[in-house]
Amino acid sequence: MSIRCSGCGALIQTIDQNKAGYINKNVLEKHKDGDFYCKRCFELKHYNKNTVLEIENDDYFSNLEQIKKDKGLIVYIVDLLDLDGTIIENINTLFKSENILLVVNKVDLFLDSLNRNKILQYVRKYLKDKNIRVKDAFLMSSFQDEDINLLLERVKELKNKKQNVYFVGMTNVGKSTILNKIIKKYTGIADLITVSNNVNTTLSNIYIPFDDESYLVDTPGIVNRKSLIYYLGKESYEYITPKKFIKPKTFQLNPMQTLFIAGFLRIDFIEGNRSSFISNFNNNLLIHRTKLENADKFYDEHKDDILKFPVKEEREELGEFVSKTISFDLDKKIDIAIFGIGFISVYGSGKLKITSFKNVKWTIREAIV
Ligand code: GDP
Repeated sequence: MSIRCSGCGALIQTIDQNKAGYINKNVLEKHKDGDFYCKRCFELKHYNKNTVLEIENDDYFSNLEQIKKDKGLIVYIVDLLDLDGTIIENINTLFKSENILLVVNKVDLFLDSLNRNKILQYVRKYLKDKNIRVKDAFLMSSFQDEDINLLLERVKELKNKKQNVYFVGMTNVGKSTILNKIIKKYTGIADLITVSNNVNTTLSNIYIPFDDESYLVDTPGIVNRKSLIYYLGKESYEYITPKKFIKPKTFQLNPMQTLFIAGFLRIDFIEGNRSSFISNFNNNLLIHRTKLENADKFYDEHKDDILKFPVKEEREELGEFVSKTISFDLDKKIDIAIFGIGFISVYGSGKLKITSFKNVKWTIREAIV
């Protein structure tokens, strides 16, 4: 009989340490009955070790093809702090819009500065501009039990009797947290699905009985290789991850000044009028302002102390620096969204030179606020 890991859903195996579901033979013998955690999930649970297993995106999309055949209800989760880095642009080529419920998670990070209606309006327009069609959009925080209840109600309203419900999303959007809460509500078991400090903790579909006729299905998180998250180890990941609501910080900049978003991205204000830059990142993340003429020297001197995130080994993986110049003007408030960590809003007019690592994407969008 095949046994699956209770943490990640991988088939338990005793042969290859580096593959999903590995467990030591003796451990397997000892614990023949009961719940099984593979070595990796066990380590994640108990020591918070980050042994990342990679799922190639091709595997992922063939998995989605199977889901597509089942014609389930797709609960498609994105992260409000990282909308651009977690949106699946081709979701409509995979699933019919009437079967998709978009869940925008982590709203708790913004409730101080934005109200729910405004966020929902923004998200609807954002989807329209990207030509993404969904049945409905649902805003929530997985930390708020009331939101979990409302999500379940919405799912019940939208699904047909026999329809399975598939939870789909990029890694780190909070999918495991949501499902764990749902499972706990239904079964009383806490943390059945591993919530990790790193990407890719859920490795194959996990079926959770929902009612007599259908399942809730946890699917593997999709890795976004253009997101900073993909490259960061535990310490850096913790540095960028907000634990409570974000307090936006405002910087008034004159031309010929530079802002460092820790060591992740650099914004040179090369010409224009005095403008506002409002950062929406983890509160502890260092934003440093300096004169443009000193910026190169500043970076070289401080990349291993105050600008030390990302750390040296991560920088090597992130690739060389690439710069791009953009214009902005008073008619249009913009956000510079950096995949994986948040965004900075810019109000004013002028030209910016933005420098980031080659392997990470940032984008300009209409400002959320
Ligand atoms: P998964 O990769 O999609 O399964 O994401 P996880 O459930 O492992 O969550 C990734 C990170 O986001 C963890 O640090 C969670 O604590 C955090 N997280 C999940 N949901 C929320 C939320 O609603 N608000 C906030 N602020 N953080 C969340």
